[in-house]
Amino acid sequence: MSVNIQKYLDEVKKRNPGEAEFHQAVEEVLESIAPVLEKYPQYVESGIVERFLEPERQIMFRVPWVDDNGKVQVNRGFRVQFNSAIGPYKGGLRFHPSVYLGIIKFLGFEQILKNSLTTLPIGGGKGGCDFDPKGKSDAEVMRFCQSFMTELCKYIGPNTDVPAGDIGVGGREIGFMYGQYRRIQNEFTGVLTGKGIGWGGSLARTQATGYGLVYYTREMLKANGKSFKDQRVVISGSGNVAIYACEKAQSYGANVIVVSDSNGYIIDEDGIKLETVQRIKEVERGRISDYVKDHPTAKYVPGLDVWSVKCDIALPCATQNDINEDSAKKLVANGCYAVGEGANMPCTNEAVKYFLSKGVHVGPAKAANAGGVATSALEMSQNSMRLEWTFEEVDSKLDAIMTSIFEACDTASKEFGMPGNYVAGANIAGFLKVAKAMYAQGVI
Ligand code: NDP
Repeated sequence: MSVNIQKYLDEVKKRNPGEAEFHQAVEEVLESIAPVLEKYPQYVESGIVERFLEPERQIMFRVPWVDDNGKVQVNRGFRVQFNSAIGPYKGGLRFHPSVYLGIIKFLGFEQILKNSLTTLPIGGGKGGCDFDPKGKSDAEVMRFCQSFMTELCKYIGPNTDVPAGDIGVGGREIGFMYGQYRRIQNEFTGVLTGKGIGWGGSLARTQATGYGLVYYTREMLKANGKSFKDQRVVISGSGNVAIYACEKAQSYGANVIVVSDSNGYIIDEDGIKLETVQRIKEVERGRISDYVKDHPTAKYVPGLDVWSVKCDIALPCATQNDINEDSAKKLVANGCYAVGEGANMPCTNEAVKYFLSKGVHVGPAKAANAGGVATSALEMSQNSMRLEWTFEEVDSKLDAIMTSIFEACDTASKEFGMPGNYVAGANIAGFLKVAKAMYAQGVI
């Protein structure tokens, strides 16, 4: 049987006009799962694909709040509850001015497969708001978060939907939202992950996505006879994922020479000094350009062209579509042989195709950055059991999960005749588990 993938894609574009990021994510997944659908025609006949591409529920709501000047501001909030076939919806909240339905849907869609790959019982969802926390006072962020949760709390719950952080949502925002949820519902429950230590948070959650990215990339390198030792690594971003990817890569002997933010990037040939980045970003909430004040031999370059810096391994950890085909060509020309996606969809589909055509090992986001959500699921387990595991316990579970995710991608890529194509392997392994569950549960 030959499956007409284009038909599904055309339908998605027609039903979801103007949502470019969602179309992009769907296209990439459909291309990979075509051989699965040929092997298992029951998934085509039972409409699994159509249902898989349509969120179970999409919620959009007004978020009114009052700024420090007493002026009323109005933002738009989102929660897309995409698929709960294998567990409660799980996925982060993004606060960034670029947020609109298409971004939340692409993230929610990717999250279904990512969560499936973790081997843990969590479905896929995502949410956020077009609110920009940058430049806002703590009091403004608190009032905004309280308003956001006042509406969101109607749709979530520890067995229904468990949001977490993402871009613009860190410990401070999770704290304000958790407080408001608890006040309204009058219950102390694991409804959000990324909570603080001492009130339900898990040790190692802060580090999990960055560490997990490096564990996954380590396995990918190992499978191809390579390692991080003495390799030049370029990281985009200097937020949560970037910081802990940098720390773990350095611990494996890598020379991380670049980190960035949305204004520019730092090149430090002697190796990025992480304590300076952490102070600027985690304490002062400042700009990465400040780095050179402490380290005058480093160089600050304004703009986003981080991928022109020569490296062996690239770890994009900022945002989507960070590496386009041109950047991919520059990376390959400069000798880059491995890419571990820390951000969600940081490479365009054209960039991924180019990398694969040149034999570059690509660790796709939905597998390589799944450590964050996996550890969130471990936080949910600890909350349900009313127990707290040590940092080492959580970290070793994370390492084991990332290793098993790599093995699942590797095995699926071989089973379907695309050895070394971990992008396809991740899509196939993630999809198969969800499709089996949907098939077993009937037409719902
Ligand atoms: P943070 O908000 O902590 O950091 C984001 C970083 O990316 C900042 O350095 C930011 O710079 C930079 N950035 C954001 N937007 C742009 C842009 N348009 N152009 C260039 N740089 C940009 O977010 P996280 O580290 O948590 O998330 C980074 C990525 O990882 C996202 O794609 C997220 O979805 C993904 N991810 C995060 C997980 C987590 O656990 N945190 C889990 C799985 C995936 P600036 O400060 O200037 O805005």
